[in-house]
Amino acid sequence: MKLPPFEVHRPSSLYDASRLLRDLGGDGVPINGGTELLLAMKLGLAQYDHLVDLKRVPELRGVRPISTSVSIGAGMTHRELEGSPVIAEAVGEMPRMLAEVANVRVRSVGTIGGNLCFADPHSDPATFLSAVEATLVLGDGSTSRRVPVDQFFLGAYETVLEHGELLVEVTVPAVPVGTGIAHMRMKVHERPAVTVAAKVTLERDTIVRARLVVGSVCGAPVLPQAIDKLIGASRGTWSERVREVAAASAAAVAPVADAEGSSRYKQALVEVFVRRALDAALANASGFTR
Ligand SMILES: Cc1cc2nc3c(=O)[nH]c(=O)nc-3n(C[C@H](O)[C@H](O)[C@H](O)COP(=O)(O)OP(=O)(O)OC[C@H]3O[C@@H](n4cnc5c(N)ncnc54)[C@H](O)[C@@H]3O)c2cc1C
Repeated sequence: MKLPPFEVHRPSSLYDASRLLRDLGGDGVPINGGTELLLAMKLGLAQYDHLVDLKRVPELRGVRPISTSVSIGAGMTHRELEGSPVIAEAVGEMPRMLAEVANVRVRSVGTIGGNLCFADPHSDPATFLSAVEATLVLGDGSTSRRVPVDQFFLGAYETVLEHGELLVEVTVPAVPVGTGIAHMRMKVHERPAVTVAAKVTLERDTIVRARLVVGSVCGAPVLPQAIDKLIGASRGTWSERVREVAAASAAAVAPVADAEGSSRYKQALVEVFVRRALDAALANASGFTR
């Protein structure tokens, strides 16, 4: 596998990077760690004459606490985020989720922004960030817009990003008291075959809010409606309801059959992993209940 020839540009601001991409049109593409893009180019699946390297763009760097959330630069590597005390303090499950992505070589250069923008269906961050209701800031250095993560993906390898627009930061709400989050996944090959993330909020031992995201089995993360069955369940009844939600969620998703398994096999995985994720999120929420 040999890379075709290309020219690398290294802009030093978000504005310059976006302007360059607009000027280059379809011949140019942004690159960060290159773990996805260079592989696609080596395989001949994508070809660009110009790569716009984002590593020197300061707007894409850093982790900052802002009021009740954390703002994460899209150019931060998985490894940098895994070790961030600010993220650990606000969203304790996130470093654990990131530590499971790929392997240490990929995590050391691959970025959170590259993961989301490539929109490979087998993504841990896409599932997790949809469940915790994270928001993405997309911009070009002069204008910006906010998009909830669950509205960012149009399908496999497709997002709402316009040409020249970049993912600048990911805003993740801090987990409030009484809320539990869990991320569960299974992999046989390099990437996860199933990812499930759940978020539940308890008030006086009753479930008042619940959110569930199933990822890696369809083109983009799916939010099963069946999760609404959990609302109002109390400690005595929620085990039964969790099982109902798991079965209904598995029946509702239409997994894509691929090298990871058949559609029916993946539905079986979804049922098991939804149950595990909800049980774990409820256990986490119970630990924080006032
Ligand atoms: C062996 C292997 C195993 C993996 N396992 C997992 C796994 O278990 N779980 C998981 O979730 N992921 C997994 N991945 C995916 C991994 O997380 C991504 O490869 C990595 O995060 C991509 O980041 P990057 O900076 O290298 O992206 P790049 O390759 O630099 O870019 C990827 C795409 O995003 C675009 N892009 C990058 N940054 C921006 C930006 N700021 N704005 C707009 N567009 C941008 C690029 O143009 C390109 O199209 C695996 C990858 C490999 C190679």
